[in-house]
Amino acid sequence: MREVRKIAVMTSGGDSPGMNAAIRSVVRSCAYYGKECVGVYRGYQGLIEGDFISLNARNIKNIINKGGTILKSARSKEFRTEEGRKKAFDQLAADDIDGLVVIGGDGSFTGAVVFNEEYNFPIVGIPGTIDNDIYGTSHTIGYDTALNTAVEAIDKIRDTASSHNRLFFVEVMGRDAGFIALNAGVGAGAEEILIPELNLGLDRLLESLKKSRDAGKSSSIVVVAEGDKIGKNVFELADYVEENLPEYEVRVSVLGHMQRGGSPSCFDRVLASRLGVKAVELLIERQTNLMVGLINNEVGSTSLEKAIKGQNIINKELLKVSDIMST
Ligand code: ATP
Repeated sequence: MREVRKIAVMTSGGDSPGMNAAIRSVVRSCAYYGKECVGVYRGYQGLIEGDFISLNARNIKNIINKGGTILKSARSKEFRTEEGRKKAFDQLAADDIDGLVVIGGDGSFTGAVVFNEEYNFPIVGIPGTIDNDIYGTSHTIGYDTALNTAVEAIDKIRDTASSHNRLFFVEVMGRDAGFIALNAGVGAGAEEILIPELNLGLDRLLESLKKSRDAGKSSSIVVVAEGDKIGKNVFELADYVEENLPEYEVRVSVLGHMQRGGSPSCFDRVLASRLGVKAVELLIERQTNLMVGLINNEVGSTSLEKAIKGQNIINKELLKVSDIMST
């Protein structure tokens, strides 16, 4: 087996703050170990089209603090087809690339596993998604920044909620995972938190809000994850509560895409730097089909297959804390 000489890096799926810091880390690690580095634009679609750029330690300067991704991200339908993946392999072979670092979420890693099964091409994944829904790492890159953005927004909403005695439903991102909702809810002092992992039920929600009102609270914040399983969207939920608790003036705020953007937090920058180094080291050592991650605050790795099949479990102790804090 020949020595690894050239490594490609790309960002795929939804963007997240800290992806640039991860690209920078991969490029600088390649330079440190004397390897060539190639950036692939627009994820798997750019791979299929051979949309590559040669990267060195200097042309990725001043990006550690930037949100989004300088390599752009995309969702590629073509990569889901055998023909698309064949084109991608041919582009990698034509450019003499020995290994690929994929920065993305579980969809991107599923694509990587399929590609590897067909072509046995060495890939290491770096978890970059704000949802924190990937097994094999306590934190994904972008999650901490998104949390801080959500807390800052909820703090501002609380100012207006308390000035007008209002009940605010604040929807945060998280289609399948309630990590942002639970942590931002506890961090911002929400009265109630609705997450996809737990179906609180409408009755309990009303009961809890009545309890808050009876305890003398004149304004309240309910944090709702996008994928909450209560069966109503956040606007229907607000209407339902307003009908049943007419004394409350109810408002809805959907934080939306602002949670994806912005300058990455220090935590995300450090995490991205650590994971980028590890990803390059693993490829050089020919240890592949792995995802790097933070496990008990140490950098480690998990097979890509496990990372996409496993589930990050919501922290029960934190659920209890959130319950106690809302009394
Ligand atoms: P996020 O968590 O932010 O949504 P993601 O990485 O999960 O990010 P996806 O859109 O699910 O984002 O996946 C990114 C890309 O990975 C897809 O556009 C597609 O090109 C590729 N991909 C996903 N699943 C498969 C699959 N089963 N086979 C081949 N390619 C896939």
